[in-house]
Amino acid sequence: MPRVYSFHVSPKLPERLSCLNELSLNLRWSWHHPTIELFRSIDPDLWEETGHNPRWMLGRVDQRRLIELAADEAFLAQMDRAADDLEDYLGSVGRFALEHPLDLSLVVAYFSAEFGLSECIPNYAGGLGILAGDHLKSASDLGLPLVGVGLLYQGGYFHQYLNADGWQQETYPINDFHTLPISPVMDGNGAPLFISVDFPGRPVFARIWKIQVGRIPLYLLDTNVKQNRPDDCKVTGALYGGDRELRMQQEIVLGIGGMRALKALGIHPTVCHMNEGHSAFLGLERSRMTMEEFNLPYYQARQLSAAGSVFTTHTPVPAGFDRFDTWLMEKYFRQYADTLGLTFERLLDYGRQDQSRREEPFNMAFLAARHSAYCNGVSRLHGEVTRKMAHEMWPGYSLNEVPIGYVTNGIHTRSWISMEMSALLTRYMGPRWAEEPPGKAIWERIERIPDGELWRVHQIRRERLIHYARARLSSQLRRRGATDSEVANCAGVLGQGVLTIGFARRFATYKRATLLLRDPARLKRILNNPERPVQILIAGKAHPHDNEGKELIRRIIHFARDPEVRRSIVFLEDYDISVARYLVQGVDVWLNTPQRPNEASGTSGMKLLANGGLNLSILDGWWDEAYTPEVGWAIGHGENYTDAEAQDQIESEALYNLLEHEVVPLFYQRDAADVPRGWVSRMKSSMTQLSPVFCTNRMVAEYAERFYVPAHRRHVRLAADGAARVKPLVEWRRRVLEFGRQVRVVNVDSSLQQETQVGSEVKVTVRVQLAALASQDVRVQIYYGAVDADGSIPRGQAVEMEHQGQVGGDHLYTGRFECRDSGSSGFSVRVIPYHEDAIVPYEMPWVQWAE
Ligand SMILES: *Cc1c(COP(=O)(O)O)cnc(C)c1O
Repeated sequence: MPRVYSFHVSPKLPERLSCLNELSLNLRWSWHHPTIELFRSIDPDLWEETGHNPRWMLGRVDQRRLIELAADEAFLAQMDRAADDLEDYLGSVGRFALEHPLDLSLVVAYFSAEFGLSECIPNYAGGLGILAGDHLKSASDLGLPLVGVGLLYQGGYFHQYLNADGWQQETYPINDFHTLPISPVMDGNGAPLFISVDFPGRPVFARIWKIQVGRIPLYLLDTNVKQNRPDDCKVTGALYGGDRELRMQQEIVLGIGGMRALKALGIHPTVCHMNEGHSAFLGLERSRMTMEEFNLPYYQARQLSAAGSVFTTHTPVPAGFDRFDTWLMEKYFRQYADTLGLTFERLLDYGRQDQSRREEPFNMAFLAARHSAYCNGVSRLHGEVTRKMAHEMWPGYSLNEVPIGYVTNGIHTRSWISMEMSALLTRYMGPRWAEEPPGKAIWERIERIPDGELWRVHQIRRERLIHYARARLSSQLRRRGATDSEVANCAGVLGQGVLTIGFARRFATYKRATLLLRDPARLKRILNNPERPVQILIAGKAHPHDNEGKELIRRIIHFARDPEVRRSIVFLEDYDISVARYLVQGVDVWLNTPQRPNEASGTSGMKLLANGGLNLSILDGWWDEAYTPEVGWAIGHGENYTDAEAQDQIESEALYNLLEHEVVPLFYQRDAADVPRGWVSRMKSSMTQLSPVFCTNRMVAEYAERFYVPAHRRHVRLAADGAARVKPLVEWRRRVLEFGRQVRVVNVDSSLQQETQVGSEVKVTVRVQLAALASQDVRVQIYYGAVDADGSIPRGQAVEMEHQGQVGGDHLYTGRFECRDSGSSGFSVRVIPYHEDAIVPYEMPWVQWAE
């Protein structure tokens, strides 16, 4: 092959337009409508052609057009306003700094295998990535000191198109990083900054790229560099591509390389947040760095680094966890274990549930959980499901005490709301409405918007969506080789003013995309009712290896060919952020039919909220906690089924019934001005009650309050004075693990009578043998509550008992509790570990009950 001297060409802007550079390089534009409009006005066709990529567009726009713009007063005024706005945004202090003046040394590093920020940076596959992107945007709005860490893939996630039979085909785009709104990070000498990680027998290098997301930098690692062997260049070749070994390599670069990149950049996070287990190797590397910094052995370093780490899990099924076989771990981690001063077997134990099961694969979720101090699920229901899955890790604690909580996911409202609706809300609520927390009176102002005005704005966006869907359908057909007349027919599909349902998701089987098609005749009657027609827009990709998912798409396409429904069901290919935005801004109803409780949270339905769309969904994920009758519709009542066939039958019936008897009639019930008053009233309730809650501004603030700030403070306290507090903490741990077994509750005395009335108080006195433990090492608790048929107390309450001193060798404790509820009740007594620097029981799953 001839040697190619490669170089890249950057846009040459007239001096007067130079601020377009900064505007295009800061992703703030992706949630600032005036800046998007500014870019679009430069060259609307090129804006579409470049996939809404201002960098690429500026590089391609005709030089004459640039000269023209440099003399266009209106354009320049708009541009200067956008530049001023960005400067103001970057220069202002966010809510976090105002509310936490004492925690300004906090630095959060947020790790994720994918980030979805804009359709023009195809570095995401779906929900997880978009959540990560929205997390960064809200962190920026709140002024939270946070940096993102991820991988930059040469090949983005695949593009989807369908062949004539409706079978999904994939193409893999290759990113030219130089046309994306990203920049390489340079070292002090102006050369690209590299870090390396160790693969068997060789180092692998990665360079670092940066995307500026408002105030937040996102650093992305890329192994496609000259120093690497050709196969190592492909480690960051594709998102979720390749085999298990490649996945392991990617996760090493993300977790271990990510920590090294931060260090090379001079960033020292006090809190690391793992968005799903892909980045869990960071726990090992962060501990290794802590060993070096404080000269500690691994066990102490792990304690310190875990104190400042948070793990969020997103899967509701054990099969969803990322796992690696032992041989792979051995290949990549045997030597690394030496650098930690651990035996390889001990390192493996961190990734196993049952440390005696040698054949158990290495589970990244366990590794993450054991290297963090906080672990959470992503909706109330998912928190419950996760506690059930993890119960075995806290034997002796009841299910509701399993220390895994939840922070319900959200969406970044400004990124998903239409320009028109945003303008309307600004008119009635003021310019900062999106940043107002839930519960603030400002949200009530939505009620003051005249029904007709709100409805008109929504109608405009539905029209825009239909226009877009027709145009997209005709280009899809043309690509499939359809005839001119078939293409011309597209103009007749879909109708303005027709109740429009959106359904878009990954075509995984649990999402049950074809539930709606279960009774085709009934569905046809619903769609084709001449007075009250309904139409459906569908989008979504199946995983390239998931033939079942592809079969679902094919079935939909075949059904949609039926002349009776051809005009009312349209499949939009290549679901991405742009398609999603059109859908959520324009549809009336968002339909979601997962198999409960398989949807950990789901976020697409949240994207409708501020846009005035309504949700119609199974009570799963976020909808299980959001639903009330004023804000939308629930399919079923939150049942979990074991018979999938029966479930589909019952739930599809429920869905048809809701559509026929509630959704469709309410939509078409109009007043004299043709406004559906009842419908608009639901729109307002949903906007008022749900949009300030199910957004990432609330979500990120919650992570900050409940996890980042406490983790930061604890990490700072433990790290102070050369980590002086860590050693006593680890020694306490060891003591409790060693002697806990010998602890006994030897005698329980109480004032309890067999028949007791509500409100009466029970006094309890116990004697406890603590063996070699001191009374400061533990707490003794009364645990009381309703008793189950099997004699256990499944959801009890704990009250601390008071230490009264020693009698003989035993410790005496007294306490009391009040009988609150009538019925079968009971109490027991237990000893739990206690240390002022420990999080119990998260970090110490030990308990000794009275026997
Ligand atoms: C929001 C979004 C998702 C995630 O949707 P879920 O409802 O969480 O499954 C996936 N893909 C795209 C393009 C999205 O915009």
